[in-house]
Amino acid sequence: MIGILGGTFDPVHHGHLRVALEVRQRLHMESVHLIPSARPPHRGEPQASAELRFQMLQVAIVDTEGLLADDRELRRPGASYMVDTLAELRAEKPQQPLALILGMDAFRGLHHWHQWQKLIEFAHLVVVYRPETSIPIEPEIQQFLVKYQTRKPKRLRQQLSGRVLLQEIPALTVSSTRIRMQVANGENPRYLLPDASLALITQHQLYMKA
Ligand code: ATP
Repeated sequence: MIGILGGTFDPVHHGHLRVALEVRQRLHMESVHLIPSARPPHRGEPQASAELRFQMLQVAIVDTEGLLADDRELRRPGASYMVDTLAELRAEKPQQPLALILGMDAFRGLHHWHQWQKLIEFAHLVVVYRPETSIPIEPEIQQFLVKYQTRKPKRLRQQLSGRVLLQEIPALTVSSTRIRMQVANGENPRYLLPDASLALITQHQLYMKA
């Protein structure tokens, strides 16, 4: 099984990296692709360029077995839709189960994504949540869960796509927003993200303005 963690990664931080590693280990995934959104359709323009966001990610995971920095959305013109990314990966890996990894916050807004009902045709969804989080949800997402949810991780290996697993993990309270604000305020965000990624922020003077 291959995991996919999409995000803005503006910048990548230890919250993202722990999620990727925890899910890979718990669900015995061969690898997890971390895929920066070049032009995220659901939010304002990222502060750092797509190339620098990708570089920060690459240096962050360089020596971590099983985590891959994947630049496919940078190579595609137009809005970066996850459904297109999953369709591409499905075509490349016709025999492998795929699993899109999402935070609970992202899952709650899933019905606003482009062609959201198609995502589950190409991949499973693994929704990660923290122990104290209340589980959602709007009626559309609730119905979606009723239809596709499984409580058995091994079901994900038995089919290529089509299941939703809610996976509790000990998440870290780190966000890219907090890192950008700290840099803009002249504070040191060290230990919230890898040193190599922080070095690129310093070198390119990223996030100086809030
Ligand atoms: P921002 O603060 O700019 O909104 P972010 O830190 O939430 O950014 P994204 O790149 O938007 O990061 O997140 C990509 C994915 O990682 C989303 O599915 C999100 O839910 C998840 N995620 C982000 N931070 C954490 C965290 N600390 N723990 C668990 N999941 C996270």
